[in-house]
Amino acid sequence: MTSSDKPVHRRAKDYRWQGVEELPYKEDGRALFKTITRQVLFSDPQMQGELRYFEVAPGGYSTLERHEHMHALLVLRGRGHCLVGDEVKAIELYDLITVPSMTWHQFRADAGEPLGFLCMVNAARDKPQLPTAQDLSRLKASPAVAAFLAEGQHRP
Ligand code: MN
Repeated sequence: MTSSDKPVHRRAKDYRWQGVEELPYKEDGRALFKTITRQVLFSDPQMQGELRYFEVAPGGYSTLERHEHMHALLVLRGRGHCLVGDEVKAIELYDLITVPSMTWHQFRADAGEPLGFLCMVNAARDKPQLPTAQDLSRLKASPAVAAFLAEGQHRP
């Protein structure tokens, strides 16, 4: 985990940075997700935020979740689609995405390309909530959301 121990961590090949460890996306095993790595770029007890880089492999996706804390994202590699609330949008290089508090969200990489993004969050944050069957049926009332979710809701 990067802190102020060293001022510069040079870029390494393929969206890696020197001295930054590549970690699994989630450790608790509760969630539905597929093929994602996580790097914590900035995290220091003096800061109230953390900056992470996530990379979703081609065809992979993040957990469908919501929580009290917000996300602010910048796409740094590839392209894909995101669900934020009841909207599904195509996303590509350098797009900015904000996820408001208690809003369902999921990110998917398109089939042929990885999707890499920076994600800023509070350092102290609540645990993500997963959708109940009722939440899912409410989300699927929108045809666009139903189509998005149908692309790969299965256990890895
Ligand atoms: Mn989240």
